[in-house]
Amino acid sequence: MAASRKLASFRLPPLPTVSELIKLYNLRAEKQLSQNFLLDLKLTDKIVRQAGNLSDAHVCEVGPGPGGLTRSILNAGARDLLVVEKDTRFIPGLKLLSDAAPGKLRIVHGDILTFRMDRGFPVDIAKPWEEDQPNLHIIGNLPFNVSTPLMIKWLENIANRTGPFAYGRTRLTLTFQKEVAERLTASTGSRQRSRLSVMAQYLCTVHNCFTIPGRAFVPKPEVDVGVVHFTPLVKPQIEQPFKLVEKLVRNVFQFRRKHCHKGVEKLFPEACRVELTQEMMQKADVDPILRPTELTIPHIRALADAYAHLCTHEPSLIKYEFREELRMKNLTKQRRTPMGTFSDM
Ligand code: SAM
Repeated sequence: MAASRKLASFRLPPLPTVSELIKLYNLRAEKQLSQNFLLDLKLTDKIVRQAGNLSDAHVCEVGPGPGGLTRSILNAGARDLLVVEKDTRFIPGLKLLSDAAPGKLRIVHGDILTFRMDRGFPVDIAKPWEEDQPNLHIIGNLPFNVSTPLMIKWLENIANRTGPFAYGRTRLTLTFQKEVAERLTASTGSRQRSRLSVMAQYLCTVHNCFTIPGRAFVPKPEVDVGVVHFTPLVKPQIEQPFKLVEKLVRNVFQFRRKHCHKGVEKLFPEACRVELTQEMMQKADVDPILRPTELTIPHIRALADAYAHLCTHEPSLIKYEFREELRMKNLTKQRRTPMGTFSDM
């Protein structure tokens, strides 16, 4: 009890400010790595508060950079903070922070897209999926260029209970470009409803916490930024393999403004397209003239179940990719033109 109070009341000792560190180590922002720094510690404290109570927590921070958010996570009482940073220039500044918080900050120089988070924390912090969430959080002011691929990867990890979710329902508090944050949380019928909305919401409770104006960052990005909190659901709203759901949703949303059966059709080879689309829509009991943005998660679940049923009867269907067929057709067409025939080569 006394120990946990001591942990929760930890404060970093006086340190050079984040701006002073940037000057000291000459840390010019690299556009290539989507570097936009947060120097206002009141703002980084506010982001960290969205994660909930961090006392005694294990935390992974993505892209700590000059360490503003890192300071707020430590001051919130985290017991063990593992930071993954791709740019070596930030390592000396992070070491300074690590010295100021002995035993609390672990620094990994690496790429978050390949980092094995399932090996990053002690196994005994894991909680069974159906119980409370583990005291493990992922927090990050994400680089814009990796935020969407990273989130898709983590959603797949949630579906398969792998990576950071090998420990249970690890919560995430992350920043995104404002438009992406709006898409992640968009409800059925809204203008921003997209593939990302469905993929995130069938697996998680998603909450758009607040917006940070672009001017709060150094250098100022072109866009505003949204802070989003995710808690994986105990029971996903669609119980089919992630890859199947992803394929269905990708096809359905490829014609956003058309009736949803247009996208569903593209799940099937031309020879059986009309017949199987009709069968799938009927089995799912979904109105084929709804727009993709009007589909609820239960609609998508019914479509995914119907598609899975068809794939069980005809296993080759799951491998069929309309875009791949189109690409092959175009390639054949090009090869048939007089300038590009095989015989000319
Ligand atoms: N957290 C700092 C802040 O809020 O001021 C920096 C945020 S900045 C938007 C993104 C950070 O992620 C940079 O430090 C950048 O070097 C780092 N980064 C970019 N790509 C990365 C990757 N693939 N893996 C780990 N870090 C990455």
